[in-house]
Amino acid sequence: MAKQDYYATLGVARDAGADDLKKAYRKLAMQCHPDRNPGDKQAEARFKDLNEAYDVLKDEQKRAAYDRYGHAAFEQGGAGGFTGGFDFSAGGGLGDIFDQMFGDFMGGRRGGRTRAGNDIRQAAEIELTEAFAGTKVNLRVPTRVACDACGGSGSEDKQRAADTCPTCHGAGKVRAQQGFFLVERTCPTCGGQGRTIRNPCKVCRGAGTVQRERTLQVTVPAGVEDGQRIRLAGEGEAGGQGAPPGDLYVHIAIRPHAMFQRDGASILMRVPLRMSQAALGTEVEVPVVDGTKAKVKIPPGTQTGDQFRLRSKGFSVLRSAARGDMFIQVAVETPQHLTRRQRELLEEFEAEAQGHGKGSPESEGFFSKVKEFFEGGRE
Ligand SMILES: [Zn+2]
Ligand SMILES: [Zn+2]
Repeated sequence: MAKQDYYATLGVARDAGADDLKKAYRKLAMQCHPDRNPGDKQAEARFKDLNEAYDVLKDEQKRAAYDRYGHAAFEQGGAGGFTGGFDFSAGGGLGDIFDQMFGDFMGGRRGGRTRAGNDIRQAAEIELTEAFAGTKVNLRVPTRVACDACGGSGSEDKQRAADTCPTCHGAGKVRAQQGFFLVERTCPTCGGQGRTIRNPCKVCRGAGTVQRERTLQVTVPAGVEDGQRIRLAGEGEAGGQGAPPGDLYVHIAIRPHAMFQRDGASILMRVPLRMSQAALGTEVEVPVVDGTKAKVKIPPGTQTGDQFRLRSKGFSVLRSAARGDMFIQVAVETPQHLTRRQRELLEEFEAEAQGHGKGSPESEGFFSKVKEFFEGGRE
C-alpha cells in the first residue's frame, strides 16, 4: 500500500510553517493517542503515522530531503539515509513515550542540549519562636559548582574543547523505534550535550563541575508551617558544561516548644491553677509567643479543661499581617504536701461542703446517677 503524503497526514499545506505543523500535530496526536483509545488499532496506526510525519517535517534537513525525494529519502539505503544510527534497543513504558513527545508543550522538558543540574533537598530545623517572627538560616549545602580549572568546559584544551558526539551527531538525542512508536531519547554517549570532551580536565574528569560545600543564607518567612518547603530557584547543583543549575529545596522542621502548642495560626497553652484559685477566681499572667505577656481573667468556679481565648495573640499567618488567637486551657491542680494549717482549712472546707452540695455540678450529677443505679437495681 502506498504511503500517505506526510503533509496530507498532518492536514497541512506544503508551505506550512513550524508553528502550524506543531499545532496540527498536537491536535491530531491528542485525538488518537493510544491512552485515549485503548485497543483501537486504527487509532494506533494513525498515531504512528502522525509521529512519523511530524518527525520528518519538523526537522528542516529531513523536510528538505522529503520535499525532494519523497518517502524514498528515508527508506533503508535511500538518498537521505536518515535511518542510520538509530538506537533500537531503548526500553521504557508508554508513560515515558508520552512524556518525551508531549513534555515540551506540557512544560516538562526543554531541548536536549542543556541538561539542568540536579535539584538539592536540604532540611533546616528552627525554633517555634523563629517560625513566628521569620528568620534567616545559614545552610551548608553540598553541591556541584562549575570547575575552576577548566572554567566549566570540562576540557584541558582552551581551543577546540569538544568534538561533536559521534553517536547523535550533535543532536543530543537519538531516535528509537518502539513498537509502533518512534521515540526520541537522550543520547547515552554524550548525555544530551551533543558534544564529547576531548582531553578531559584532570580536576573534574570532563564533567565541568566539582563537588563543593557552599554556605547559603535562606530567608524563612514568618508563619511558616512545619514540613513546608522553600524553593530557591537556581541554587541547586550546577549543570554540566555550562547548562543551567537545578533548584534548592529547603524543608523546614519546627522544634516543638515546651509551652506553646501550635495548631496552624492558633496557639494552645495549658495553664495550671491551684484549686482555690479556680474556685475563687483570679488573674494570671501568661507569656505570649511574640515575647510579651498577657493577662487572663479566670472567673470563679473555673473547671479543668475550660478555655479562654486571647484574640490575636496566636501565631503569625504566612504572607499576612494577621495573627491567630491564643487559647488558654486550665488544669486545676490538687495540692500535694499540705501544711498543718492547710489541712485544717481543707477539713473545715470539706465539712462545710458535705452539708451544702450545691455548687459542684459534676459531683451532683454523678451522685444522683449513683443513687439511681442502686435504687433501680433493687426493683
Ligand atoms: Zn550524543
Ligand atoms: Zn574541570
